[in-house]
Amino acid sequence: MNILVINAGSSSLKYQLYDMKTETAIATGRVERIGMDSSILTHEVAHQPEVREVSEILDHTTAVKKVLDMLTHRKFGVLRNISDIQAVGHRVVHGGESFSESVLVDAKVKLEIRRLFDLAPLHNPAHMMGIAAVEENLPHVPQAVVFDTAFHQSMPPTSYLYAIPTVLYRKHKIRRYGFHGTSHDYVSQRAAEYLGKPLEQLKLITCHIGNGASCTAILHGKSFDTSMGMTPLEGLMMGTRSGDLDPAVVPYTINKEELTLNEVNSMLNKHSGLIAISGVSSDMREIVEAMNDGNDNAKLAFDMYTYRIRKYIGAYIAAMDGADAIIFTAGVGENSDVLRKAVCERLTFFGVQLDEAKNAIRSPEPRKITTDDSAVSVLVVPTNEELLIARDTYRLVLTKLVGQGVETEG
Ligand code: AMP
Repeated sequence: MNILVINAGSSSLKYQLYDMKTETAIATGRVERIGMDSSILTHEVAHQPEVREVSEILDHTTAVKKVLDMLTHRKFGVLRNISDIQAVGHRVVHGGESFSESVLVDAKVKLEIRRLFDLAPLHNPAHMMGIAAVEENLPHVPQAVVFDTAFHQSMPPTSYLYAIPTVLYRKHKIRRYGFHGTSHDYVSQRAAEYLGKPLEQLKLITCHIGNGASCTAILHGKSFDTSMGMTPLEGLMMGTRSGDLDPAVVPYTINKEELTLNEVNSMLNKHSGLIAISGVSSDMREIVEAMNDGNDNAKLAFDMYTYRIRKYIGAYIAAMDGADAIIFTAGVGENSDVLRKAVCERLTFFGVQLDEAKNAIRSPEPRKITTDDSAVSVLVVPTNEELLIARDTYRLVLTKLVGQGVETEG
């Protein structure tokens, strides 16, 4: 079965085509600048040069049509016909309290995703455009949606409620939802496989450290607490997001700087974090480079960033009364041995013993970077959210087909 995985943004659309027999991505690509001049389609197939096509792509329906044309292209394509795509899986950022697992798309599901627009005004409407665009181009192909928030629906109220009047939760569902759920879910499964133990017996702390960053306490396979909140702004310091701060900073800044609420919101989401403290960049590679060149602000940004990850790890060890393993993943977590060292070398109280030689090794495979006698293992596990979306889609479609009595060959 071939499954097309789509991550639709407001002006972009990323795709990966998976062959589920081998669970490999046979083609990947993205469409950028949808609705602007000179839209760009970039398409990649293993062992072949990247293809770039510039054209006018006015909407998501045209973007999906262009992707399908590319996938079946005589020279650059990987499929003979678009009927070789048996299902489509979408990433959807916010599933609110309505979705605690992935589901097949139907009228009710679409209505519910629309109802959640308020909670994710930048993301969910774009995902809906992606779903509608696939419906127009591939009307008979089943679609599934996989939510960033679903994995965290297992959190207890002690983790997800804010200590504010409960009427706000009852009326408006103001609470912690958490994000990056697909990634935390995927790497925890991989970590359990690597450790050779059932996930249900493990206490894990997963650190998804990329452009956006979040930590999750995973107790016996279920999300128990996570650092992002009602929106992805809460928690760790990030590339351009502030992470945790005293909410009183917002009205105070509005008064002192004569800013609007929207301006403060934009400041906290787009002009804070690493970029604000370092004055250099939101990219950890450039922060480390500037720090090595003696830039004090870059060093302060790095120290704040790693200190906050360590604080969350400490908090989650307390929350779960222990931890078997700490897992680093995503762009920074997978690639920056400097960051992992800075976080782990002050966790010795908990029995974390980093092996510096192992920490320096780069590999696309899960690996342990602590010594054999370390009381808590630290692992680096490359994330693969698209594969998990493809797997969930495959499982849902297969279950439906089996339910209909259709014979499948896998
Ligand atoms: P992601 O959001 O997971 O795609 O992560 C993207 C981020 O990973 C980039 O903005 C970089 O800051 C970071 N990154 C990628 N490679 C490295 C590296 N070798 N060292 C430090 N940070 C890196």
